[in-house]
Amino acid sequence: MTSRRPWSPARMMVVVVVVITAVMTGLGTASCAHDDGATRSDRRGSSGRSEPTKPDTTTRPDDDVDAGGGIPARPASLDPQRTLSIHLLDVGQGAATLLEFPCGAVLVDTGGELNASFDSRSALKAQLDAFFLRRTDLNRTLDSLIITHPHIDHLRGVPTLLQDITVKNVVDNGDPGDDDLVRNEMGVLRGYIDTHQTGHRSIRADDIVKRNGLTDEVIDPIACHDVDPVIRVLWGGLDHDPGWGTDNYGKPRFANQNNHSVVLRVDFGAASVLITGDLEDVAIRGLITRYEGTRWLDVDVYQAGHHGSANGTTKDLVDATTPALALIAMGDPLRQHAWTAWAYGHPRAGVVKLLEDGVQLGRPPTEVLVAKGVKRFTGRTIDRAIFGTGWDGAVAVDITNDGEMSVRRRQRGR
Ligand SMILES: [Zn+2]
Repeated sequence: MTSRRPWSPARMMVVVVVVITAVMTGLGTASCAHDDGATRSDRRGSSGRSEPTKPDTTTRPDDDVDAGGGIPARPASLDPQRTLSIHLLDVGQGAATLLEFPCGAVLVDTGGELNASFDSRSALKAQLDAFFLRRTDLNRTLDSLIITHPHIDHLRGVPTLLQDITVKNVVDNGDPGDDDLVRNEMGVLRGYIDTHQTGHRSIRADDIVKRNGLTDEVIDPIACHDVDPVIRVLWGGLDHDPGWGTDNYGKPRFANQNNHSVVLRVDFGAASVLITGDLEDVAIRGLITRYEGTRWLDVDVYQAGHHGSANGTTKDLVDATTPALALIAMGDPLRQHAWTAWAYGHPRAGVVKLLEDGVQLGRPPTEVLVAKGVKRFTGRTIDRAIFGTGWDGAVAVDITNDGEMSVRRRQRGR
């Protein structure tokens, strides 16, 4: 059993009200600006659901967008010393999650997508530049950079980032990667570690204390005055195949780096976040078994694994996490290139349904695209608290140490 309190109706309203603010500041211009003349709904299949309520854009403030990469400013009512902001940065198809603490910052993965329509390297740089412009007290320093696993959609921003941002600690799964591009980016990171006295910890699952996770001064270098967050690793690289067998393509699942992702839990007072990297179903089963009967998987915010893929979130995991809100790091499915959300079919409709049934909070009804399969999408209206970069652009979740939560979204098309 866990000690987490159930979400009260009052808290549900907190999220909804602030999201409406974000919608009014952000969504009003999205359809035409983003799609270059054609609305998003024009390109969709049949929705099967009623039309969403259109946001009232007439009260849209002109300049309610700060230097946070286009994300509206954090509400002034939130005490910065008691608030964690989870910035799901928009790196297209990929992942990069910036955890903003009162006294520091941790970046989990660096994205992302690269094609004729989108360059995640410049997108990441712009968002980090805006962040550090606002948080000048951090002196362009990340207390920790965590690479969940060596795949390019989590690594591509590393060389750009290291050009002018200081990284004090690095956490990875200890594997140099499978191909030349990834090995090159990992080599850049290792070279930086060697020349900058950077703390470094490679997480091997065997090192993790069974049922308790693992933390130390490299994994958790943040020590804030009022609320001291706890960063804990729950999963990492495995040395022996637990008997995972082969996937649909005949490839051993053990050979897939996704299943060796560093899994991260962050506690900030009563607030908690789980990031599972690209862990797939067989490894998710192992994760659940390992922590069964503990409170370590039960969180407020769940960043859906593997960009919302069909194998990145299971019902058992949703049941174990009981999230109030879910985030999905994926690209815009309207960009039809190789290695995109469109090409992979992310997020999958079935996973979105699992999350809709599982999350405890709501959001204003919003039309989104969900995948029926690779390169096949359909429209859907969601009213549960699921936010995705492919739908919303960058998203920031502010959560206080006593668990109050609000959401800001980037204004798309600007
Ligand atoms: Zn990935």
